[in-house]
Amino acid sequence: MRLGGADPPGTARDDRRGGAMLELVLTAIQIVLALVALPIVVLCAFFPVVLFFSVCDEVRFRRFLTRAAAACPCPECGARLGSSAPAAAVAARCAYMTEFHRRFPDRKYPSIRRFDALCPTCGAQLRYHRESQRFQSADDEGDG
Ligand SMILES: [Zn+2]
Repeated sequence: MRLGGADPPGTARDDRRGGAMLELVLTAIQIVLALVALPIVVLCAFFPVVLFFSVCDEVRFRRFLTRAAAACPCPECGARLGSSAPAAAVAARCAYMTEFHRRFPDRKYPSIRRFDALCPTCGAQLRYHRESQRFQSADDEGDG
């Protein structure tokens, strides 16, 4: 005989209600974990792809600079830059960084003006401008 609305503890109906509550809590935890884990999984999955395309883009830009420099005159002295001018810029930056770290081992990452080509004739530091499709002196653009 039933007297009240609720079953006494320990009955089958109470166990079912507790099981449903536990299932609801577990589902909520699973949803929260999925919301946290999904971006991490996506980042981990796509990071190598993004890295690959970044490296490909940089390699393509370096090849493009080499071809562009082969046909461009230096805006400072008028001599042809040649295809070795971009590689000379990279070597000059590396030499500068090496010398900087040798002289100041406790400092990090010096701010150096970016330049894309180094004129083999006059040593001008040149930067490629996509808009004008020309090399211009890196000193002309101010601090940037
Ligand atoms: Zn020059």
